[in-house]
Amino acid sequence: MIQVNKIEPSFFTKKKKVIKNPKQPDSWSQISDIRSDLREHILSSEQDLMCIYCEKKISSDKNKSNIDHFKTRKLYPELSFEYSNLLVSCNSSNHCSYIKDSLPLTKEDYKNIINPIDKDVNESFSFAEFGDIIANNDKAESTINTFSLNHKSLTEERKTIIRNFEAFKDFEEEILVDAFNGHVNLIKYLKNNKN
Ligand SMILES: [Zn+2]
Repeated sequence: MIQVNKIEPSFFTKKKKVIKNPKQPDSWSQISDIRSDLREHILSSEQDLMCIYCEKKISSDKNKSNIDHFKTRKLYPELSFEYSNLLVSCNSSNHCSYIKDSLPLTKEDYKNIINPIDKDVNESFSFAEFGDIIANNDKAESTINTFSLNHKSLTEERKTIIRNFEAFKDFEEEILVDAFNGHVNLIKYLKNNKN
């Protein structure tokens, strides 16, 4: 999970002002004309083109990524247009927003899930040599489960990076993130532990 600082872009602020009944979940369809620009903006200026949850590089194509309401519109309709609640997730059916939204989460459950805008994101997770994300606290554990961040497809990808890292460890972080298709926190972790 990537920690983000969110700054609402002016085109979204402007658009929000003309939304009718913004606190109703289905009002979201009223921004369909700027949704693609919004997805592109969040992905490129805040998430370095990575899925906020699994950290895989993704494109802003609607078949590859979606604007995820971290706090679902169903439970928190009042946050439908709250910019800090809008994150870009990959479209995988095995992990990330798809899994979170398929769970019967309650407001109580949300108290025990780390939000990417929280300050304690980075210290909550580390990595094991077989590619698993390790939870450093209870909240991190339920976050991993909510987004299925240790799905086999992800641990296999991380394991490949870990096994091949030695030969590439002296490259800049940015180059490694491009070369390894994302996974910025794993790369930071490996750089800190192997240099
Ligand atoms: Zn993802």
